[in-house]
Amino acid sequence: MSSSESESSQQGRHREAGHKSLLQSDALYQARFFDSPPIPSLCAYMLETSVCPREPECMKELREITAKHPWNIMTMSADEGQFLNMLLKLINAKNTMEIGVYTGYSLLATALALPDDGKMLAMDINRENYELGLPVIEKAGVAHKIDFRVGPALQPFLLEKKQGSFDFVFVDADKDNYLNYHKRLLELVKVGGVIAYDNTLWNGSVVAPPDAPLPKYVRYYRDFVLHLNRALAADPRIEICQLPVGDGVTLCRRIK
Ligand code: SAM
Ligand code: CA
Repeated sequence: MSSSESESSQQGRHREAGHKSLLQSDALYQARFFDSPPIPSLCAYMLETSVCPREPECMKELREITAKHPWNIMTMSADEGQFLNMLLKLINAKNTMEIGVYTGYSLLATALALPDDGKMLAMDINRENYELGLPVIEKAGVAHKIDFRVGPALQPFLLEKKQGSFDFVFVDADKDNYLNYHKRLLELVKVGGVIAYDNTLWNGSVVAPPDAPLPKYVRYYRDFVLHLNRALAADPRIEICQLPVGDGVTLCRRIK
């Protein structure tokens, strides 16, 4: 296929039900479609202008390592990493938690934003993938902030954590468990603290018609995401903000 045929075959793909991109133009979409690793000639406006040039070298390196991994679709996009890093600085986060680490791109975006004595509790059922990114995290000089625990989140040791001790929690693991996490995390995050749920627009499938040809995993988790979104919107203990960044991220600020 010639490069122009390849480009035109991508035209409009961002509008397909079940496709991950939420961006509304082909030019922007193409940059996202090819963003791991970025191909300069296709790196269109948003990534080219404000994300890629400002991405720290260590995050670039980790994104490139992750791009070679068979499950690379799981990693956060560069623009969401930039958003997360900025958000953590804006709220002066010091004590944070991450559920769902994979190779550590969101972990690194967070660790870089924390002060030198900041702390991150990070949990994943898979250590191997975390270890792929660990050398980059170590080289970046932020590994001392991270307490990585292998195993399912909601482990018993979490019960020992002081209530209200976290400034920020990023949830990016098993989507069918998000509401169980929410119940526990609302006790662990401080009043005024933030819980961020990732992928809350779930590949755009939240608005797909019932007979849309969705990939199996997208269809499987869709109802859990829809249920979560309704529950968060109705929860009086939090203020919420649903952002169309990445695959959708919902910020929940604990108010009671
Ligand atoms: N936050 C990462 C990033 O942006 O680069 C991506 C995380 S990936 C989407 C989801 C991760 O959740 C996988 O690494 C998977 O092993 C992990 N996971 C799945 N079920 C889990 C559970 N019950 N507890 C902890 N981690 C889990
Ligand atoms: Ca995610």
